[in-house]
Amino acid sequence: MLQDIAPQVYHNEFYIRTPQSQDHFFYIKDGRILLDPTIDHFPFPSFQAFALKQPDIYQHADYLFSISQHDFYLIDEQAIQLDESDGYLFSAPTILRTLTPSWTGFAGVTGTQLHRFYRSRTYCGCCGHKMNKKTDERALICPVCHNVEYPKISPGIIVAVTDQDRILMTKYAGRTNPEFRPDCRLYRDW
Ligand SMILES: [Zn+2]
Repeated sequence: MLQDIAPQVYHNEFYIRTPQSQDHFFYIKDGRILLDPTIDHFPFPSFQAFALKQPDIYQHADYLFSISQHDFYLIDEQAIQLDESDGYLFSAPTILRTLTPSWTGFAGVTGTQLHRFYRSRTYCGCCGHKMNKKTDERALICPVCHNVEYPKISPGIIVAVTDQDRILMTKYAGRTNPEFRPDCRLYRDW
């Protein structure tokens, strides 16, 4: 599973930290993440790679978590404009699941989840004012009505529905699935 990253250790305790030049960050814009696709084992950009072009990038970075000795930050893409350059390209987040070693994929997926949290909670769901980042925990707070929003946890499960040697499969209308072997027996008439 994606979260099985041993012997690496995931630390998600909340801290306010200042990034160092060797630290890495996630930069996500329009649903795509900036990566160097030629470095499949660690494609995340580092601060030192962009500090010359964007010296204020350090001021718009939020510490997210660390995995073993690697610290990861999230850049506010509304404050810092980064473009595809120097080998870095915007990629679909689905590529993160293909990274090796797999713990780097876990880092990327966790980063995109936290980015989604921050961007989807820009405004208070109760009164509409702009939310502020809390300084003592991973959360956003409304300065007017004090509504607090935390990252949403969305656990998922997979269930196999079987009947002797058969398994229930889904099939989307208008889409073929090349993994279905011809000898697969499917429930087609539910
Ligand atoms: Zn509010």
